[in-house]
Amino acid sequence: MVKLDLRDVLQRLRSRYSLNLDSYVAPRALRRGANPFEVLVGIVLSQNTSDRNAIKAFENLRSALGGKITPESVDRASLEGIARAIKVAGQQRRRAMVLKELARVFLERPQLLRELEGLGTEDARAKLLELPGVGPKTADVFLLMYLRRRTFPIDTHISRIARRLGLGSSYEEIRRRVLELGKELSVDELIELHLLLIQHGREVCRPREPRCSECVLRDLCRYYREQG
Ligand code: SF4
Repeated sequence: MVKLDLRDVLQRLRSRYSLNLDSYVAPRALRRGANPFEVLVGIVLSQNTSDRNAIKAFENLRSALGGKITPESVDRASLEGIARAIKVAGQQRRRAMVLKELARVFLERPQLLRELEGLGTEDARAKLLELPGVGPKTADVFLLMYLRRRTFPIDTHISRIARRLGLGSSYEEIRRRVLELGKELSVDELIELHLLLIQHGREVCRPREPRCSECVLRDLCRYYREQG
């Protein structure tokens, strides 16, 4: 099993990229004082689409709902109205239905957030995974960025990079391995590592023809070694 120094990886990525927190839907929403429901909606909107489109969809929805996305405003809005507002993110009808269901859950369980805050990370994760439209990545982004718990969301870029580096193959294997190797990292550093790896996946460690010759992780990479 590959043993990486994740602080070293973080430093290398920092030296290569400058992070723009406003280009990621959840950090952007948090920086603008979003409520927890809005943060969760933003993360749901970012599933299977780019952050750019998710941000547009999020802002359109906010405007359509009078400036604030709350369980009440989503519940009151029509399915069609929500779908129209978030169209830019794609799968708008399915997503709109998920947002309506999520709003219902939050209205029926007003203590839900407090319940989550009172639970250990893995128990809170299990509860989040019971919510409509919430899979492992959505749960982990919410846990890490909103509840500031030690977990690590694995998106498609991070999954690909982790596999190439030799950190594992399944979502859970990679998440656990990163947490184990990164146990010295703070929550802020885990967030930074998560976002910088996404940037690395977009710009250098691309799905096809990764730009290995300019990669700051080249000497650590199993894929690169195997390419010879
Ligand atoms: S060396 Fe190539 S494959 Fe390995 S992490 Fe860098 S870009 Fe990705």
